[in-house]
Amino acid sequence: MTKKTIQDVDVRDKKVLMRVDFNVPLDKQQRITDDSRIQMALPSIQSVLQRGGALILMSHLGRPKNKEPEFSLRPAAVRLAELLGQDVLLAADTVGEDARKKATELLSGQVLVLENLRYNEGEKQGDPEFAEQLAGMADIYCNDAFGTCHRTDASMVGVPQAMGTKPKVVGLLVAKEIKYLSDAIDNAERPFVAILGGAKVSDKINVIKKLLTTCDQVLIGGAMAYTFSLARGGRVGNSLVEPDKSQLAKQLMEMGGDKLVLPVDTHCGDAFSSDCNKVIVPSGEIPDGYEGLDIGPKTAELFADIVLQAKTVVWNGPMGVFEKPPFDAGTRAVAEAIAKSGAVSIIGGGDSAAAIKVFGLSDKVTHVSTGGGASLAMLEGKIFESVEALDDV
Ligand code: AMP
Repeated sequence: MTKKTIQDVDVRDKKVLMRVDFNVPLDKQQRITDDSRIQMALPSIQSVLQRGGALILMSHLGRPKNKEPEFSLRPAAVRLAELLGQDVLLAADTVGEDARKKATELLSGQVLVLENLRYNEGEKQGDPEFAEQLAGMADIYCNDAFGTCHRTDASMVGVPQAMGTKPKVVGLLVAKEIKYLSDAIDNAERPFVAILGGAKVSDKINVIKKLLTTCDQVLIGGAMAYTFSLARGGRVGNSLVEPDKSQLAKQLMEMGGDKLVLPVDTHCGDAFSSDCNKVIVPSGEIPDGYEGLDIGPKTAELFADIVLQAKTVVWNGPMGVFEKPPFDAGTRAVAEAIAKSGAVSIIGGGDSAAAIKVFGLSDKVTHVSTGGGASLAMLEGKIFESVEALDDV
């Protein structure tokens, strides 16, 4: 890591504006169903508080259109107060009168959470004026929101730029994520195996291309596989496919050769539900009226065998509709093989992280990333503007 971290700056009696990722899942009663993202931000938060700094936290939550109250950061602020065992202030707005007043009056050791960044159009637009208003509240800027590092929102790029000569650093979570992911990419012990799944091939074309040049094998599961099947002239029934991407899939197969490993069988259902009629068929032979919902048992065994030989594994995207058993079997088989392999294993955020947690295997892998899109962007070799904007060591 060539960037200064929050540990490298003196925060005593300083106000630290920290971009965190408190975009937590909430149920209909506004209860947090998984507080991992708040937990992951605690090391940086505590580092500032223990060294006598004051903290102003900012995050987005969901996709509000019109400042709907269900997108308030209040539940996150309440949970943070419980975890820290101290009061946490919540501003009624992000850069308005209440936020500015509370930020001005904030004392060392205190924590203020600003309201949802996306209550302001300027956030997604990367508006420099909005960024200036945020930057003006603090002495130090810290980026600890790995999940949004691949974005160019105002809080990610505009704010560090607007800080001028004031310190701007990475937080401990971002530093850890970048270290694990870049080590996995640059110093991978071989065999190096990538497993990609999920709904759409279009989201992952560039990462597949890149991984075909860096990995020894790239395994493809999830609905993505059916676009490859289609490209080979297979029957895909009602499966989720992207016919306009079948030419690209063909190119990837030509480029990958034996490195690209596709499913050999498919677990199909006649409806998108657990209690549908089910059938297991060879890949490319999905009957009319059925859709592929998981890799089949032969594929699960094939993928597990490859993973068990690997020394480094990166995984992003489920092998099937793991939310609807029994179509979780393929994802479970891959997760269990990773846990058993002893390989350095990096699990991309989002659904693969959720799956590994549901299977109780989170502590059997090397690193579970907090960012799905961000970890894919790193695997693709993208440079994050949000991190580039920070101070070098
Ligand atoms: P992504 O966001 O692209 O990683 O996709 C994750 C989603 O893909 C999960 O919600 C899975 O249920 C879904 N998925 C995986 N395999 C299939 C499939 N065969 N058919 C439909 N959806 C799938």
